[in-house]
Amino acid sequence: MLNRIVADTQIQALCDLVNGSRKVAIVCHMTPDGDAMGSSLCLWHVLKAMGKTACVVTPDCPPESMMFLPGADKVLISSYNPERARYVLGGSDLIFCLDFNDLKRIDRTAPMVADSKARRIVVDHHLNPSIDADVLISHPEKSSTCALLYMVLSQAGWSDFIGKEAAECCCTGMMTDTGNFSYNSNDADLYEILAQLVAKGVDKDAIYTRVFNTNSVERLRIMGYSQYAKMQLLPEHRAALITLSREELNEFNYKKGDTEALVNVPLSIPEIVYSIYLREDEPNYVKVSMRSKGDFSVKDICERHFGGGGHRNAAGGEVHAGLDEALNKVLEVLPIYDPMLPANDEID
Ligand code: 5GP
Ligand code: MN
Repeated sequence: MLNRIVADTQIQALCDLVNGSRKVAIVCHMTPDGDAMGSSLCLWHVLKAMGKTACVVTPDCPPESMMFLPGADKVLISSYNPERARYVLGGSDLIFCLDFNDLKRIDRTAPMVADSKARRIVVDHHLNPSIDADVLISHPEKSSTCALLYMVLSQAGWSDFIGKEAAECCCTGMMTDTGNFSYNSNDADLYEILAQLVAKGVDKDAIYTRVFNTNSVERLRIMGYSQYAKMQLLPEHRAALITLSREELNEFNYKKGDTEALVNVPLSIPEIVYSIYLREDEPNYVKVSMRSKGDFSVKDICERHFGGGGHRNAAGGEVHAGLDEALNKVLEVLPIYDPMLPANDEID
């Protein structure tokens, strides 16, 4: 039996809103990852099985690596078709916001959601949600929105509407947000959900192969190069730093997603507490990604210095400048956090 973690009053309110709606839109955060795409498409399949008109709106283009998800080709990409996105969001009775806690995370789609008269339900696992909603289901202790959504659907009594395709989407997000059940995964509910998904026909091993063990030649080469030639260790800060310039990205024919999880790699060095990856996406725009271990919070660093946020151990932000300036900024910021570093024997 799954734990019932969501208040009955919230489930009732959610059921009333869904039952009373005909047209439902589902929105997830920009640069959607496995959990954002997985939860959105899982819910899309479920709503369609319930006879609703439903549409997933992504702020920007989903990554190629998630296009295997059933229904991914039906997603409405707001940045490609803003007029249509505004029309769909404006004309919906109900909007689900999945896997984000702040309208800033949906970029130019934010005013379309804010201006819509649709009722709003948030299902999310990021800390400190700031989205106004009729029903706010926020559980930061859950490792993925997919797992949380499954628990919500199951508490709502809608398990039978979760078919094989919805189950595949759900399983994908649970896997990606836990690194295939290697972190944030000491939660018995996860395995109960997984058992139910496999019983619905999910081939978990096939999803693993698609998500974690399918690489392009370009990805393998840029990952190798980044670790061999670009990983810098800063032992005095117990940090690792990887930077990739526009020229390097071009040289390796970089495509979105090619360096996915690169930032995690240095954390496998026991002495390293946190890892920083700077990627010069545009001439004056650097994407910042950070990962950490234990209590050391990269969310705080990204919030305070890089206009971003995220989770304690996985966060991101940005610098509106060239790579050199972004690097200088990081090197300025690092010493501030030396006092927060754990004693050597406190981390894995
Ligand atoms: P990644 O490093 O994979 O891009 O992002 C890791 C996590 O950090 C994401 O799941 C998201 O929660 C958060 N994050 C990444 N970039 C940003 C950003 O620019 N702003 C905010 N608020 N959070 C971000
Ligand atoms: Mn997530």
